[in-house]
Amino acid sequence: MSNVIGRYWQRLNDGRIECNVCPRACKLHEGQRGACFVRMCENQQIVLTTWGRSSGFCIDPIEKKPLNHFYPGSSVLSFGTAGCNLACKFCQNWDISKSREMDTLMDSATPAMLAAAAQQHGCKSIAFTYNDPVIFLEYAVDVATACRAAGIKTVAVTAGYIDGPARVEFFSLMDAANVDLKGFTERFYHKLCGAELAVVLDTLKYLYHETAVWLEITTLLIPGENDSDAEIQAECEWVMRELGPDVPLHFTAFHPDYKMRDLPPTPAATLTRAAQIARRCGLHYVYTGNVHDTQGGTTHCPACNAPLIVRDWYQIVSYQLSNSGQCPLCGEQIAGHFGVYQGCFGAQRKPIRLMASR
Ligand code: SF4
Repeated sequence: MSNVIGRYWQRLNDGRIECNVCPRACKLHEGQRGACFVRMCENQQIVLTTWGRSSGFCIDPIEKKPLNHFYPGSSVLSFGTAGCNLACKFCQNWDISKSREMDTLMDSATPAMLAAAAQQHGCKSIAFTYNDPVIFLEYAVDVATACRAAGIKTVAVTAGYIDGPARVEFFSLMDAANVDLKGFTERFYHKLCGAELAVVLDTLKYLYHETAVWLEITTLLIPGENDSDAEIQAECEWVMRELGPDVPLHFTAFHPDYKMRDLPPTPAATLTRAAQIARRCGLHYVYTGNVHDTQGGTTHCPACNAPLIVRDWYQIVSYQLSNSGQCPLCGEQIAGHFGVYQGCFGAQRKPIRLMASR
């Protein structure tokens, strides 16, 4: 498939072209690629070089994104491309996100093919994931448009490092988002991600207050880097103050990877400690992830504390909510998007092949 002309860029007086999809604002000479690698300057325009191409397609449980309040138990057709606009030294998907090899992009699919495949496989939604979808905005938007027409929901798994008109367009076609809030200090973002915390916080506020996108937040806790009581407390207080108690917050376990292989994996006790801090701050829906922790994976009623959805990792063990998402004991409405529970897709990950002609 050929390169697609981008929508967010401008010509600079010095002859370079500036990409305006994300705050990096890469200023490119003819033939140069941006920091994300997948956008480049071609014929004095910014083009996306990966429209229609993917590192692979898989059917996952929605809990794996992670989204615990968006049609629990349903399956989601997931895909990503290559590249990333952050430079996280702890990247847990670095083989995809840091790829400079177009060989990574073995699979290809048109938006119509993806929407049809989601329908065919009984997926409630499609997820733009594995690498950050904001960098392949034009493809994501075209796929999301096809999915909307086919009645398939759309999910963005993103670091939220996008702003301005590109952010408005990107999220206008998303039904749900899980945003990585990678730490809660500018030091962490500068030192380990090559980015700015303030932009991500602005995206979180934008999503919650100015869109209808269902929002959940994930923080990967890295030993010694972002797991102090003070930093977790500051993050939870910010979520409570700026977004309120009903945005689910997931604390997930780091495993040593990419440029941070010298640290230990996150102890389960750290996740439990973080969850306790979050609940003390007043957040209603707090989860631990990447570990077997039934207590940390359970959705409790914020009014009567009844266990409503009990999970073991990606497996739903017990589901008690009404079809409209109410507690059967006290009638409290649980925040999120729910429907008729049709069982649990489970922990499986099912790769599928789609192939359009190139
Ligand atoms: S999307 Fe890519 S090319 Fe555009 S500003 Fe961000 S990193 Fe640079």
